[in-house]
Amino acid sequence: MSLLDQLIARIRQDGPMRISDYMSECLLHPHLGYYTTRDPLGARGDFTTAPEISQMFGELIGLSLAQSWMDQGKPEPFALVELGPGRGTLMADLLRASRAVPGFHDAAQLVLVEASPALRDVQTQTLQDYAPRWVGSVSDLPEMPTFLVANEFFDALPIRQFLRDGAGWRERLIGVEGDSLAFGLGPISEHVALRARVQNTKDGDLVELCAAAIPIITTIAGRIATHGGAALVVDYGDWHSLGDTFQALQAHERANPLQNPGQADLTAHVDFEPLAHAARAEGCAHTRLTPQGVFLERLGITARARSLAGSLGEQEQESLIAAHRRLTHPKEMGNLFKVLGLYPAYAAPPPGLEP
Ligand code: SAH
Repeated sequence: MSLLDQLIARIRQDGPMRISDYMSECLLHPHLGYYTTRDPLGARGDFTTAPEISQMFGELIGLSLAQSWMDQGKPEPFALVELGPGRGTLMADLLRASRAVPGFHDAAQLVLVEASPALRDVQTQTLQDYAPRWVGSVSDLPEMPTFLVANEFFDALPIRQFLRDGAGWRERLIGVEGDSLAFGLGPISEHVALRARVQNTKDGDLVELCAAAIPIITTIAGRIATHGGAALVVDYGDWHSLGDTFQALQAHERANPLQNPGQADLTAHVDFEPLAHAARAEGCAHTRLTPQGVFLERLGITARARSLAGSLGEQEQESLIAAHRRLTHPKEMGNLFKVLGLYPAYAAPPPGLEP
């Protein structure tokens, strides 16, 4: 039975489904889920991410985290963590770039948070020299100083959508029309998590909530506040969510998110404000939300590109220039993608994210 047929049967039996439940099923169903069954990255996959565009991305993240580690007195041992490492490319680049930092590799315990067995296999190959350990959830991360990166992880977490109707909200739900899935609206209700949004929205506005992100950030911020460390959270999104950002990508093209469940990548923009708020509640400091282009320029991406270019042929130089532009230019990923840094209130903010 296909995932579409299973979902239709479930909705016929239980009634309309939350978008968050739909996303969870489509992405992580044990046999039919999108991430569980494949490696979706790269030119032949469905989407490309910053570390797959250029090695410079992971290298600069590595230098930022290694500098934070030095600034905090080189704690030993520490957990070097990545959430949703994909193919392991970012972590491999990070580790190569930080090899020259005395003591960093010896003190690091590499821990990867990955739900997909298919991608764990790829990560095993990419990172075979570094003895990584996998955990299924951040609650299993060790209690120690934690230096962490998450690129395009939070956008894969399930969201719910709410349409403002007067002083209340109607949830956007997924039902069945004929043999297909279709969006509809639930009844008006109040939601505690949406109370603060009444001030900055108007009738007819749509907002998104990602409840799953909160316990994850709370755990990470707790580790950093208690034991030291730093986190770099990189994703597309903004300070407030506003409007429908639920989208499907298949073979690098936008697709209807209700068609071919389990066959397309589903994401939503990250609302960083509640993440920062949850970190603060744990006594953890956070940086200003910084555009990816600004972050990478501050860390010296242009100098890094120049030094790489020296050893390249003409065609490779062209693609290096294109990659630099793609990562940093405001009309490409430079402005759409943002970086939020978490760090202990007593320590310096992560390099690239200073006020
Ligand atoms: N960070 C990588 C991959 C991004 S794709 C890159 O930049 O290239 C999203 C990643 O998060 C995949 O590795 C996916 O399997 C993982 N993932 C998605 N939801 C998850 C969850 N709930 N728990 C753990 N990993 C998850």
